[in-house]
Amino acid sequence: MNNNITHGLWADTAPAAPSLSSFEGEREADIVIIGGGYTGLSAALHLAEQGTDIVLLEAEHIGFGGAGRNVGLVNAGLWLMPDDVVKIIGKEYGERVIEELGKSPDLVFDLIEKHGIECEAMRKGTLHCADSPGGLKALRQREEQWQKRGAPVRLLSKEESESKIGSKKFHGALLDLRAGTLQPLAYAHGLAHAAKTAGADLFVKSPVIKVEQKDKKWKITTLSGIITAKAVIQACQGYASHGFKDNMKTLIPFNFFQFATKPLPEEIRRSILPEGHGAWDTNLILSSYRIDAAGRLVVGSVGSVDKFGHGLHKNWAKRTINKVFPQINDAQPDYEIEYGWFGRIAMTQNHVPRFHVYADNNISVTSFNGRGIGPGTLFGKLMAEYFLNDSNDNIPLPVSNQKNIITRGVRGIAYEAGARAYHFIQRRV
Ligand SMILES: Cc1cc2nc3c(=O)[nH]c(=O)nc-3n(C[C@H](O)[C@H](O)[C@H](O)COP(=O)(O)OP(=O)(O)OC[C@H]3O[C@@H](n4cnc5c(N)ncnc54)[C@H](O)[C@@H]3O)c2cc1C
Repeated sequence: MNNNITHGLWADTAPAAPSLSSFEGEREADIVIIGGGYTGLSAALHLAEQGTDIVLLEAEHIGFGGAGRNVGLVNAGLWLMPDDVVKIIGKEYGERVIEELGKSPDLVFDLIEKHGIECEAMRKGTLHCADSPGGLKALRQREEQWQKRGAPVRLLSKEESESKIGSKKFHGALLDLRAGTLQPLAYAHGLAHAAKTAGADLFVKSPVIKVEQKDKKWKITTLSGIITAKAVIQACQGYASHGFKDNMKTLIPFNFFQFATKPLPEEIRRSILPEGHGAWDTNLILSSYRIDAAGRLVVGSVGSVDKFGHGLHKNWAKRTINKVFPQINDAQPDYEIEYGWFGRIAMTQNHVPRFHVYADNNISVTSFNGRGIGPGTLFGKLMAEYFLNDSNDNIPLPVSNQKNIITRGVRGIAYEAGARAYHFIQRRV
């Protein structure tokens, strides 16, 4: 598929990934990691730092999946309200996962600093913007639930949010000071450099087609080689391919696109999200808003921009920019949209990530429901510790079964069709 519509702006502005080859031949390793996104790379880095002999196999290139396509919001938790997480997976796991994910931006920004990763990292917080009175009410509940857990989260008045967003369109916004933004593909490339420097062997263009257990070891077969290992970490998420295609049957996939303007003139750029927050709104078909390091406004929402979706969603993006940030069109009526791209989000039925133990020494924590920068980095580290400490006590999730979701395709398609219909009419008046 055309790189412009898969990795778009991020592909053009990320520093290069390390130079890597595909895996060929036969060898042994302590642990094989499958997937070169945040989860796999974080696991590789943390294991290699402790002297474990690691091979990471990526089917395409580093950051090919969600890691190279996302919005770049480093969130501190799941989409769900904290109390709902507790209702779904129980108090013990629920409170633990909320606490761990609340701290996951610390891990991300610490790694960035420690390894000198150039990825436009900015930790000024994020704004969840109320686009209706109902949305504001829901944000009040979120604020209360986070504050009772001691999180630095605060609901801003309409006036305060206006100045922080640079738009009069919203009724208020929830400021989360734990969170931040980064250039997502650049972060993945930086993690790959760090893992390689720590001693992990990383391979690209090396899709895994089969994983079998033989004499208490794992035999991992790629298109052109075989590796024997004591353990396997699967980190394929919503881009599972080749030997893991069936994993997709257990997820509800849907697409999310983004459009980026050309760099805005400095005085306009300073009027939009002037303090460097990333933002999204409370709409069921949500929109995201952020500025990149060069001063481009990046807006996103549900849908894909291949085929006929491109024109419809691009028109929506223009209308959205004009309604939410009219100062751009006022100052520069001929402003241009420079990039448009999309990626696939992996949702679970209950919106909570899953911990799978497929067999002895073959595990995965997966499906971050559109929030994988912090969680992927964190669960990669926790899976590394699972093997280093020989204990699963550190994974703050119950072990899940792999269950196919019969209606998965229909649900994803219905959501995207709803988004197309909504984007066709939204913000016309
Ligand atoms: C459009 C979009 C917007 C998003 N916005 C945000 C956001 O703002 N904030 C946030 O926190 N999260 C966001 N997410 C979610 C986030 O990108 C993902 O949760 C994250 O990328 C998950 O990381 P991962 O390493 O687990 O999986 P991925 O990044 O998807 O990586 C999986 C890798 O596995 C490889 N693979 C698959 N099968 C094989 C095989 N057989 N052999 C070898 N390799 C294989 C794939 O090629 C891929 O590179 C968004 C996602 C999308 C798509």
